[in-house]
Amino acid sequence: REPLLEIRDLKTYFPFNTGFGKDKKGNVHAVDGVSLDVYPKETLGLVGESGCGKSTLARSVIRIENVTEGSIKFMGQDITHLSKDQLRPIRKNIQIIFQDPYSSLDPRMPVGKIVEEPMLVNGVTDPEERRQRAIDMLAKVGLREYVYDRYAHEFSGGQRQRISIARSLILMPKLVLCDEAVSALDVSIQSQILNLLNDLQEELNLTYIFISHAMNVIRHVSKRVGVMYLGKIVELAPTQELFENPQHPYTKALLSAIPVPDPGKAQNRIVLEGDLPSPKNPPNGCRFHTRCPYRKEICEQEEPEYREVCPGHFAACHFCEQLQK
Ligand code: SF4
Ligand code: MG
Repeated sequence: REPLLEIRDLKTYFPFNTGFGKDKKGNVHAVDGVSLDVYPKETLGLVGESGCGKSTLARSVIRIENVTEGSIKFMGQDITHLSKDQLRPIRKNIQIIFQDPYSSLDPRMPVGKIVEEPMLVNGVTDPEERRQRAIDMLAKVGLREYVYDRYAHEFSGGQRQRISIARSLILMPKLVLCDEAVSALDVSIQSQILNLLNDLQEELNLTYIFISHAMNVIRHVSKRVGVMYLGKIVELAPTQELFENPQHPYTKALLSAIPVPDPGKAQNRIVLEGDLPSPKNPPNGCRFHTRCPYRKEICEQEEPEYREVCPGHFAACHFCEQLQK
C-alpha cells in the first residue's frame, strides 16, 4: 500500500539569539529528524509532553512552518519547498483542526460564512452552491441549519469545535491534522467529538494525524501511535502493541503514569528524573539519557538507532531487547 504522506528526516529549526556576542545564533531543534509514513484512512496518533515538537511537525506538514531539512511527500508529490501559489491546490487536501475553536473562528463572521470561506478561496463562485454545501456539512457535524446565521460565540466549546470541523472538511480534504482537537473540552464532550471524527472518517475516507498529550485519548482513536521526545520519534507501533509491549523507557514511563483502575493491582511506576531539557540545546547521545532510569555510559555518547525491534514496531534505545519485562 502506498503511503498518503511520507516524511523523511524532517528537521524544523527556529533560529534564536543566544545573547553571547551579536552574531551568536542558535537553533531551537523543534523537529529534529523525523521519518514517518501515514497510510490512507488510518489514524496515526502522536503523543508526547508539550514542547516535544508534535505541533511543529503538523505545522511543517501543512507548511505553516518552513522546513529546515528533509522532505515531505504528499500523494506522491514532494511538497517540501513549494511556494504559496504552488501549495494552494495541495492545501485543499490537507487541513488542520486546532485545540481552541474559539480563537480560530472569526467572531465577526456568521458561522455559515466561516464554513464557506475555504470554498471562496478555492474558486467555488456560486453563492447558492456554497450555502448549500455549508448547510450540508453543518448537518454532517451534527448542527442544524439555524446555526448558519449565528455567531460562533453563541455556542458552547463542543459546538464551536463542530463548526471548525465543518470548516476544515468543506473542501473534502484527504488528510486532517487534529492538534489537541479535544484537549480543551470536558470529558463527556470529548468523547462526542471523538465519535464524530470517527464517523466522519468512515463517511469521507479521511486520514488523520491525531496529536495529543493524553495517552487515553490517543489509545482510543489511533491505529498506530508514535511517541515523540525532544523533536524525535522514539517509538512507533500499532496501538495495542505499543500499550501492551512498550519498548522504549520513555514510553514505559508515560504508560506507567496512567492510573490503574484496579487498586489491588500493584503499579510499576517509573518516575522520570528532572525536567524536559530545552530543545535549544538537546542532550548528546540518547536525548532521553538525562531522565532515563536505565541509562548506561554509552547512552551519553552514542545516539541509539531508530530500528524495527519486531515487525511494524520501531524504537530508538540501545537496550530495548534487554529491557523486555
Ligand atoms: Fe535510556 Fe539509554 Fe535507552 Fe536512551 S538509549 S532510552 S538513555 S537506556
Ligand atoms: Mg502543541
